[in-house]
Amino acid sequence: MDVGKAALRWRIEPNADADELRDHPAISEAARILREGGLVAFPTETVYGLGADARSEEAVSKIFIAKGRPADNPLIVHIGHVSQLEELVRELPPEGEALIRRFWPGPLTLVLPHKGAVARKVTAGLDTVGVRMPSHPVALALLQVSGLPVAAPSANRSGRPSPTDADHVWEDLGDRIDAILDAGPTGVGVESTVVDVAGSTPMLLRPGGVTLEELRETVGEVRVDPALEGEVQQPRSPGMKYRHYAPAGEMWVVDGSGEELVRRIRRLAEEARRAGRKVGILTTEENRFRYEADLVVPCGRRNDPESVARHLYRALREMDRAGVDYILAETFPATGLFHSVMNRLLKAAGGKVIR
Ligand code: AMP
Ligand code: MG
Repeated sequence: MDVGKAALRWRIEPNADADELRDHPAISEAARILREGGLVAFPTETVYGLGADARSEEAVSKIFIAKGRPADNPLIVHIGHVSQLEELVRELPPEGEALIRRFWPGPLTLVLPHKGAVARKVTAGLDTVGVRMPSHPVALALLQVSGLPVAAPSANRSGRPSPTDADHVWEDLGDRIDAILDAGPTGVGVESTVVDVAGSTPMLLRPGGVTLEELRETVGEVRVDPALEGEVQQPRSPGMKYRHYAPAGEMWVVDGSGEELVRRIRRLAEEARRAGRKVGILTTEENRFRYEADLVVPCGRRNDPESVARHLYRALREMDRAGVDYILAETFPATGLFHSVMNRLLKAAGGKVIR
């Protein structure tokens, strides 16, 4: 990695499967860079990841430098075959096995006791490691061709909204990494769900692309890290304590529903604009024409949670591009995929809610 030098950028049509892509020249080049200890950004079904050889202390440290990521925030290890688990983890409890059967490859990370095979910086010194097998064909092909366990956090500068398109990666890291595999916009739009299966009862540490309801359907009881409900200050999942996904402007989530929610946001926006602020409103297609503000960003459709998740980070980045300094976001009922959306919105707002 050569800070200041532009990353190589290869466009890959995403409509091929991993088997076909394994022969793609961009995949072999990217795999070579990873094996030589470099940094490659690649699409996954959730967001773009910034990958490095998870076994190499030196390669992994470049991730922290490029992102400006705090060292106590562990990284998720990505694998291209389930069989790679064996080299990484000490044991796989039956709940873990059941979750893998249903959700891999896919947006689910399992926290398991590790074997010491990955760099210390990956686990931030914990005795567990987070592992996932992504389903995006480009990610799978890259992981399979490299043959490596690849540590990959989201490919954004630390604290910023995660990248759901290669342009977002370019914007944040274009001169700090070796290469970008560009397969256009990602599908899920929020990061993987993180579940700790190392203890006696599975515990949800971060809601994401797989919902709590789906987890419970598969393994029965799943506890929720009290930190997610805002009850304790010290989360079990180290990364969850940092401000994340945040736009530059001051952001507030506005509580309420239906007509009352729209009326409140209209009133708050009017007051803020009178006070001279440049106001952005984060809403949905259903309500977009009901507001007056400097910028109104529709983020999917309220009756389609998947569409909201998919467009969330793009919408937050749009706020930055327009230079709004006061952002009001509509609230969503926190079930299903909206649970994950609300988690990200609250983080982006630094927990600030207007009730
Ligand atoms: P990111 O790579 O930015 O999507 O963030 C990865 C997140 O996964 C971290 O911030 C943690 O919240 C979580 N995580 C990764 N490894 C572990 C682990 N061993 N124990 C608990 N949480 C983990
Ligand atoms: Mg991240």
